[in-house]
Amino acid sequence: MLSLLQPYMPVIILIGELTILIAISIVILGFILLLLTAYAIKSGNILFPRFMRAGLLFLEGMMRGMFRLFGFEDSDFLRIIVTLQNTLNRKAFMAIPVTDRAVFMPQCLRSNACPAHLHDEGLKCRECGLCRVGEGKRFLELLGYRVFIVPGSSFIKRMIKRYRPRAIIGIGCLLEVKEGIEMSTQIDIIAMGVVNSSDGCVETSADWDQVYRIALLGVDPKKVPDEMKKYLEL
Ligand code: SF4
Repeated sequence: MLSLLQPYMPVIILIGELTILIAISIVILGFILLLLTAYAIKSGNILFPRFMRAGLLFLEGMMRGMFRLFGFEDSDFLRIIVTLQNTLNRKAFMAIPVTDRAVFMPQCLRSNACPAHLHDEGLKCRECGLCRVGEGKRFLELLGYRVFIVPGSSFIKRMIKRYRPRAIIGIGCLLEVKEGIEMSTQIDIIAMGVVNSSDGCVETSADWDQVYRIALLGVDPKKVPDEMKKYLEL
């Protein structure tokens, strides 16, 4: 058997060496990404965002494992991906007029006693004051956004097909936001994500300051309604 393989030995050895080299390079790359991520989490500064996003997504399975090994939570990994996507999309988002943007928020943000009903385009909020969705919707509509309060991703896809926004703000839990941004990238829509400050199935909370901070990107301060001016300072 060995004698049969003898003529191919140099090729087999070369393949073996290349495999080891690639494996070592991937591990080194993983450590570099881990260090950059740890720095980003600690300092809030993101170095080489393009490289980080490509690396973290390309090596997602391995990176999640390394994160766990070094004491990070899975949520740290997802959070940094969302932050990276937002950082990279920020400039393009600012260039898109508000009238071509839409906001999608989950209906789990509403109060348990919400009197609104579900319609063809999502929940028709009555701005009853029982939760902050009504105020958020009003503020965002004042700026010129289309706002949808939706029970799931099928509504989002339908509204995107119907209104063809060029940019969206997606509010939701960590995994939803990460997957939503990835889906938007695939269909050429600039997406910015805002992760809920509290998760669950009912009465969740959005990070409204972050929603308004993103919503005001690229908006002429002179056109910002008085009641929203305070968010320009955030
Ligand atoms: S503000 Fe809107 S979403 Fe919130 S409870 Fe009232 S009707 Fe429902």
